[in-house]
Amino acid sequence: MSVPLIKNYIDGEWAKSDSTVFGDVYNPARGEKIAAVAYGTAADVDRAVAAAKEAFTFWRETPPLTRARYLFRLKEAFEENFEDIAEVLTTEHGKAIDEARGEVRRMIENVEHATGVTTLMCGYTLEDIAKNIDCYGHRQPLGVFGCIAPYNFPAMVPWWFLPYAVVTGNTFVLKPSEQVPMTQTKIMEIVDEVGFPEGVINMVHGSKDVVNAMLAHPDIEGISFVGSTPTARHIYRECGNTGKRVQALGGAKNIVAVMSDADLEQGMPSLLTSFFGCTGQRCLSGSVLVPVGDAADRVVEQFAAAAKTVSIGDGIDEQTFMGPLISNAHRERVLGYIAKGIEEGANLILDGRGIEVDGYPNGFFVGPTVFDNVTPDMTIAREEIFGPVVSIVRAPDMDAVVDLINSRGFANAACIYTASGAVAREFKYRVKPAMIGVNIGIAAPMSFFPFGGAGNSMFGDIKGHGQEIFQFYTDMKVVIERWY
Ligand code: NAD
Repeated sequence: MSVPLIKNYIDGEWAKSDSTVFGDVYNPARGEKIAAVAYGTAADVDRAVAAAKEAFTFWRETPPLTRARYLFRLKEAFEENFEDIAEVLTTEHGKAIDEARGEVRRMIENVEHATGVTTLMCGYTLEDIAKNIDCYGHRQPLGVFGCIAPYNFPAMVPWWFLPYAVVTGNTFVLKPSEQVPMTQTKIMEIVDEVGFPEGVINMVHGSKDVVNAMLAHPDIEGISFVGSTPTARHIYRECGNTGKRVQALGGAKNIVAVMSDADLEQGMPSLLTSFFGCTGQRCLSGSVLVPVGDAADRVVEQFAAAAKTVSIGDGIDEQTFMGPLISNAHRERVLGYIAKGIEEGANLILDGRGIEVDGYPNGFFVGPTVFDNVTPDMTIAREEIFGPVVSIVRAPDMDAVVDLINSRGFANAACIYTASGAVAREFKYRVKPAMIGVNIGIAAPMSFFPFGGAGNSMFGDIKGHGQEIFQFYTDMKVVIERWY
């Protein structure tokens, strides 16, 4: 069966790569190939960066409010194409359509937030720093920025960065994940229709070669990266070597504590979403469930019972709560972790292996899986699984919860369910992760707050979106001025 070939978007044109290496894009619910993508080359990156560099000369002189107006137009166009984007996303990624809609909404919110450039990009001034001398600092764009994205949020993650980079006057080269290139292709069609000036926004598809060419490119000023921790480390190190600005967001192993006073009836829907939403393929997914003190038996029983009710199927079906995993290779990896959990002696109380979904015999499905009596040293309590596998580690008290959280190298998010403000405060105060949920299972900051973890979950200091990202994409020029 012949499938469409995904193209690059460079200098306002759709361009075929001259690469001879191709990857397959799947509908993971059906296990069918739906497109092919060329794994771009250093020459593709050169072309995109040259276009972006050229565009920077006029784009940086375009007034910020005029730049913001392109984003206003884009926001409207995204609203008009909202359902189409969500559908492409679910088709190539597999997540439930309602989650895809939520993701597209968060993408648009970043466009909305970035339109605040005329206040958020401002510098500051002080008169008379010495007799008759004034001082002011203003923020200037730097040039071409690159973005390298993961597969799990094909629409949203690149837009944690892109709107802010371009609204501050920089130009942009995006490399989406090679596993989900169709969503950003759909989005770039909209960018093209809206009439962004040529070369301001460019996209090169591919894999490691594109990434490494971006890292080595002398005309790329900085990189925004999101993906797994080993890749984030590589990006951070290489950007250090070449002197680029960098923000590199990595993997996670998020712990969700449930105290004995927690309202489980109210909390259960958000607990289920935390562990099984997006089939566990979120950097904010709960992975380790920690019932504390005498709540343990009740929490385990009610959680396992609720997990059995999760509906599994094609994400495009409105009834589906949990879709497939992204690929067969990832499915095998998740099954490997389940085998490891059994081998290391954890108690498998809900087994998602061998799940069959009617009409989808080739889909990459794994059902909700729950292990009880997991110990902190077991592999399934330490490593990122990125699937619907829950490790329950029972803890006697808050000290044990804090020790468990702070002993993981990852420090992305942590959540607590409790009825006590004092207990919640102690938790927030003592744990290392930088995104905290209180009676919230997915601690996802909105576009006007920074998104990113700590420890091995984040390399660099300025996180995704929020107000600080205006600093990442600009440099403060300070002028000290005296007139005679
Ligand atoms: P990944 O690290 O495999 O890939 C991310 C990007 O890096 C892709 O574009 C890929 O092409 C590229 N890449 C992969 N290996 C590379 C290599 N050796 N050299 C150069 N480039 C390489 O991550 P993924 O599997 O696409 O995404 C899932 C991961 O992303 C999970 O670990 C998840 O926790 C993490 N994630 C983190 C956040 C966050 O905010 N911290 C958000 C979303 C996803």
